[in-house]
Amino acid sequence: MRQRLALSSPVPGACGKTGSWRVFRPVVDKEKCNQCGLCAMYCPDQAISDELEVDLGFCKGCGICANECPKKAIEMVREEK
Ligand code: SF4
Ligand code: SF4
Repeated sequence: MRQRLALSSPVPGACGKTGSWRVFRPVVDKEKCNQCGLCAMYCPDQAISDELEVDLGFCKGCGICANECPKKAIEMVREEK
């Protein structure tokens, strides 16, 4: 299991399920990703698993993961309604 720094330790989905209000969703380019795990470490809602899968049930679309990714492997894509 990947070890995480104690920047914060929210429980999964600390803010509850997202529902339909998210405007952007993160999409990971697995070709660019080097599996460093920073996105999972910085996600404030712990919505990225140790296997680096985004749980869209809890992702709020804040874009922090994309901002912190050193490989620019995460694109924030507008949700289609
Ligand atoms: S921060 Fe970027 S490079 Fe690192 S695991 Fe996440 S998507 Fe991959
Ligand atoms: S967009 Fe925000 S809530 Fe969603 S996975 Fe990235 S950091 Fe977590």
